[in-house]
Amino acid sequence: MITCLNCNNDLILAIDVKNNDFKCKDCSEKYDLLFDKKVLKIINKNHQLSFFINDLSNCDSKFSLKNVYEMYNKGYLDCVKMLNSKYNQSDNIWHLSVNKLKEKISQNINLKINTILNSNTESYICSSCKANYSSNEALFNNFSCIMCLNQLVINNNFEEVEHLKENLILIEHNGFIPF
Ligand SMILES: [Zn+2]
Ligand SMILES: [Zn+2]
Repeated sequence: MITCLNCNNDLILAIDVKNNDFKCKDCSEKYDLLFDKKVLKIINKNHQLSFFINDLSNCDSKFSLKNVYEMYNKGYLDCVKMLNSKYNQSDNIWHLSVNKLKEKISQNINLKINTILNSNTESYICSSCKANYSSNEALFNNFSCIMCLNQLVINNNFEEVEHLKENLILIEHNGFIPF
């Protein structure tokens, strides 16, 4: 389990995008949140935690409200209603549970692996230049590659699945690392 580097509780960040303020909901220890390409970085002093999230549309650098809404819609973070006594209405507070995020990313990778393993659409690949062919194209070309004339083999997506499994192991061992 990933815990707060200050209070050691399950790390849940309270997110205030407007003020660019991200802190542990239990002890108020401050964290920085930013996107570097598709990697969400959570930084505390000289420690950093990174999550590769490949299904967000807008994640360049600053952590924006757009990111929050999209992450909420995809189930990566939670919205907690808090009563604001001053205005007698409830405010939306955004909570990012780092462990839930990790779990959600693992789930998505598992889903992808299962989709690949269960897909019936057969395709062929050239073992030398890696060109892909549908079964119709392969049949039409007598099961040889039109670029290098090599024999085509059934593409069982073995490499992609192996790559996803490696990602899964990485995400399961993910934690804060010093820099
Ligand atoms: Zn804390
Ligand atoms: Zn080829």
